[in-house]
Amino acid sequence: MVLSIDLELTSSTIIVNKENNYYCIYLGNNEKGDDNMVNVTLGRTKITVNRNGFGALPVQRVSDEEAIKLLRKAYDNGINFFDTARSYSDSEYKIGLALSDVREKIFIATKTPSITVEGFWSDLEKSLTLLKTDYIDIYQFHNPSFCPKPNDGTGLYEAMLEAKEQGKIRFIGITNHRLAVAMEAVDSGLYDTLQFPFSYLADKKEEDLVNLCKEKNIGYICMKALAGGLITRSDVAYAYLSQFSNTLPIWGIQRENELDEFISYIENPPVMTAEIKEYIEKERNELVGEFCRGCGYCMPCPVGIEINNCARMSLLLRRSPAKDHLSEKGQAKMKKIEECIECGNCKAHCPYGLDTPNLLKRNYEDYKTFL
Ligand code: SF4
Ligand code: SF4
Repeated sequence: MVLSIDLELTSSTIIVNKENNYYCIYLGNNEKGDDNMVNVTLGRTKITVNRNGFGALPVQRVSDEEAIKLLRKAYDNGINFFDTARSYSDSEYKIGLALSDVREKIFIATKTPSITVEGFWSDLEKSLTLLKTDYIDIYQFHNPSFCPKPNDGTGLYEAMLEAKEQGKIRFIGITNHRLAVAMEAVDSGLYDTLQFPFSYLADKKEEDLVNLCKEKNIGYICMKALAGGLITRSDVAYAYLSQFSNTLPIWGIQRENELDEFISYIENPPVMTAEIKEYIEKERNELVGEFCRGCGYCMPCPVGIEINNCARMSLLLRRSPAKDHLSEKGQAKMKKIEECIECGNCKAHCPYGLDTPNLLKRNYEDYKTFL
């Protein structure tokens, strides 16, 4: 039973105080409304945001001025969910620079890779300072190799609870690349959100995971919705994901033209059509089986091979502008593959179970032919 509902209406946000829980329903700066095709609710967090989340990893590669321009333009056009991480160098700092004056109108998710309690608190304090805020909406464990739980001896989950108690974080999330860890997190009921790769190249198991999160009312944040650059039509990516009402893609945005593309989806969200279905089918047939997603979890390589690009060079050459890959610098990177000492480190760490050293060799042979 709802005891009291206070409504505060600002130009862009309704804040509902329901028995001391604050739910923010964002209508967009342009007041385009809360159409389900455009907005998504992250499960039990009730955080409702525009379906185009801003993945802020790439802003670490641009200047402060360019980052501010991008982040601000995103916000001004209705994008209101920003995902970053302590590990993305100055990404949090740039979000703080660009958006601290509109903090209460946006939602920020960040991550800690720490596996110690001390590191957890140090990361959280650093993130709060850099983001110029006193709370994080969703604080996530960043791709841990295990699922942190109470009494598991690490104290990590207890630290999350303590941070929540102190009001420094609102919800607890986890990101992962390993299906087993993701499943464990979902089954545990301990997490409000899961961030996991999801795109139209997903297999049945991944689609099942998304549906399970929906069933359990856990917010699903999609990383790699463009499969690390292998998907070249974002309209197709969007149309596929919007079939799953609980998914929030966080597009990695580095250039203004990329941002413009996603902003256009706020007004005209791509929908599934016969043409798009056929396109996805063709893509799935082409990219079936063993292919590197470019996640980089197998790195660093002891001899300095840039595995996350070199192991998918054949695809990159055919699906993105080949010029850079074939430059002198590109050739030197590929030649490094000759130095592989077969240590097996990459293979052991690939969450997709790829035989990475062999994949590298196959890509190198193809590259030489291409040259
Ligand atoms: S097996 Fe080769 S590519 Fe993989 S980490 Fe070892 S040296 Fe690097
Ligand atoms: S080989 Fe595996 S771990 Fe390495 S970048 Fe590719 S998909 Fe990621």
